[in-house]
Amino acid sequence: MRVDAVTLFPGMIDAPLSESIVGRARAEGFLELGFVNPRDFTEDRHRTVDDKPYGGGTGMVMMAEPVYRALKKVRKKNSFVILLTPKGRKFDQAAALELAKKKHLVFICGHYEGIDERVTPLADLQLSIGDYVLTGGEPAAVAVIDAVTRLIPGVLRKGDATVNETFTDGLLEAPHYTRPAVWRGSEVPAALVSGNHKLIAEWRGKQAAELTGKHRPDLARPPKPAAAKKKGK
Ligand code: SAM
Repeated sequence: MRVDAVTLFPGMIDAPLSESIVGRARAEGFLELGFVNPRDFTEDRHRTVDDKPYGGGTGMVMMAEPVYRALKKVRKKNSFVILLTPKGRKFDQAAALELAKKKHLVFICGHYEGIDERVTPLADLQLSIGDYVLTGGEPAAVAVIDAVTRLIPGVLRKGDATVNETFTDGLLEAPHYTRPAVWRGSEVPAALVSGNHKLIAEWRGKQAAELTGKHRPDLARPPKPAAAKKKGK
């Protein structure tokens, strides 16, 4: 997959995505990551990319033209352009799965008070990583690119690593344990050391359901109609 970021601060994306699994995915060619800086598309002496907002108010607004030109430089026919904004659709695992199918993603990262609104129609999707305001779109791009990259076939070495995990099947994942079996007096649940696969699967299913009900009741699936009917009897 090819990903380009339109950003005034490429280092804020490049550095965190040079480490660990995504760094390896880049080194092995699963992910090609490029950057284009709107500042390189300015014509004045100061390479100005922002200006005061019309109508007054605090902060500076990124000007449309340098962003447009930077986007034009990287956008191809098959590109999917994402504008990062706290006003966008909330990013989740379902969105990550959708984006992982694309050939080319382009992220537009705002900074300061954001980007001139006239850039918005250039995007295929407006995306938010949550209900809070970041200083810029760069940390949001890092989160989205990370979540998408690990879904590219071949990036994670264990084929099923993304199948059973949190959110993929509408549940939070059951807790994990590793050695030692007793750590500072705290024991690993007996089912997990039983060697009985059926028992382990049952334990994990129960834990996942309980955890989801406790921490994220909004994710918990309603009971199937047949089960609901039985319960009502
Ligand atoms: N004034 C804007 C508002 O109130 O909606 C916030 C601008 S924010 C300080 C600067 C940039 O950070 C935005 O243009 C956007 O690209 C990015 N950003 C901030 N929070 C974000 C979030 N939750 N998700 C995605 N991008 C975000």
